[in-house]
Amino acid sequence: MSLSFYNTASRRKELFTLPEGEDTVRIYCCGPTVYHFAHIGNLRTYLFEDALRRTLEYYGYKLKHIVNITDVGHLTSDEDEGEDKMEKGAARTGKTVWEVADFYTKAFMQDWHLLNIEEPTLWCRATDHIAEQIDLVKTLEAKGFTYRTSDGIYFDSLKFPRYADFAHLDVENLQKGSRIDMGEKHSATDFALWKFSPTDKKRAMEWDSPWGVGFPGWHIECSAMAMHHLGPTLDIHCGGSDHIRVHHTNEIAQSECATGKPFSRFWMHGEFLRMGASDSKMSKSSGEFLTVDLLREKGFNPLDYRLFALTSHYRNYLNFTWDALESAKESLKSLHKKTDLLMGKAQKIESKEALDWQAQFKDAIGDDLNMPKALGILNNVLRADLVESEKAALVADFDKVLGLCLDIPREDYEKKAEGVDAKEIESLITQRTEARQAKNWAESDRIRDVLADKGIVIKDSPQGTTWTLK
Ligand SMILES: [Zn+2]
Repeated sequence: MSLSFYNTASRRKELFTLPEGEDTVRIYCCGPTVYHFAHIGNLRTYLFEDALRRTLEYYGYKLKHIVNITDVGHLTSDEDEGEDKMEKGAARTGKTVWEVADFYTKAFMQDWHLLNIEEPTLWCRATDHIAEQIDLVKTLEAKGFTYRTSDGIYFDSLKFPRYADFAHLDVENLQKGSRIDMGEKHSATDFALWKFSPTDKKRAMEWDSPWGVGFPGWHIECSAMAMHHLGPTLDIHCGGSDHIRVHHTNEIAQSECATGKPFSRFWMHGEFLRMGASDSKMSKSSGEFLTVDLLREKGFNPLDYRLFALTSHYRNYLNFTWDALESAKESLKSLHKKTDLLMGKAQKIESKEALDWQAQFKDAIGDDLNMPKALGILNNVLRADLVESEKAALVADFDKVLGLCLDIPREDYEKKAEGVDAKEIESLITQRTEARQAKNWAESDRIRDVLADKGIVIKDSPQGTTWTLK
């Protein structure tokens, strides 16, 4: 059975395989800028990426999956204009930028867990990779792809002849359109690799560099972290469709100029969530945005939203309405009514008919992640004339990809969403870290047990401790 994905780079569906001798898919996903809560439109992208990784695992691949946390350098416009989103978040909340980053990173991870999105192999923070970003800019400078202005070091996009190809940009018109506000840039499509701190005020986040005190541009962080952790050529790079035109175009330009190699074999992009019948994209700047917390306040389980997102193909727009979410909630309830009866009955999938359903499911998800079709197959299986032990096994098998918690009773999955108090968990993890630093192993084990009782599994790594629900 073959696996194929739509590759934004070629604008075609292509067969997905790994290079000869490799068994691990290296994926990089652009993560959140942690200056505010994530809205459910942002989270739709992470749900698509979760479907991708679960599908790859279903097809037997190992994964190295990296998600970044942007905690510096993302300005209010993607084209290096405006204020730093983090400094703006600090001004809005009266906290330091570091507190803002920490608070919203935790809030983001809580949403991630509540939506039952699988933990990446590694979360990486831009501020933990300043040296790698400076090194990449140095390489670009040595190869002659940069120039200096009074406010920073810029990438000279005209030196990369393929610059316009990825997004099918009309560079000539772009140049004409932005001639007025180009500042000292040589070309409208040039972008900042390193920005200097303003001379009149001190920034909260700034670092020394060979060019002067400042901070990295937003685009360079993704290239630097992706290549540092995954090597010069990734297998799949993902993000929202709004990243194609500027952010991913710039990532490709700077990465390929630095290494002389293709940056990613596949590029996959999730489409927007739209509000109601209007064409407007949900965004934080419009002031109207919905969070997972708000859905929970209104009596929804975050998994209702997960199911809602699965009902549409990731490359299509999805219109959000409360009625549509309500009907997803009803669908999940009715699915559970059927799957709860099968709980604990799963045995081998061996009849020809059951194996055929399984093959259909695998085919659907392998066809550019056709989750609406996969959900249809699940519903057909539940109606089919199959022995319960096989039906139960198929449900558990499909749920590895759908992630709707269909293999646990409905009451438990409802608790799973409601019973988690992320702040309490974070505080317990902090206490445990302190106990470990003090070599108080008895206390650290006690806290681990308390967390385990709450259904929380913790994972320690050099980057810190992360948690997931059991
Ligand atoms: Zn990125």
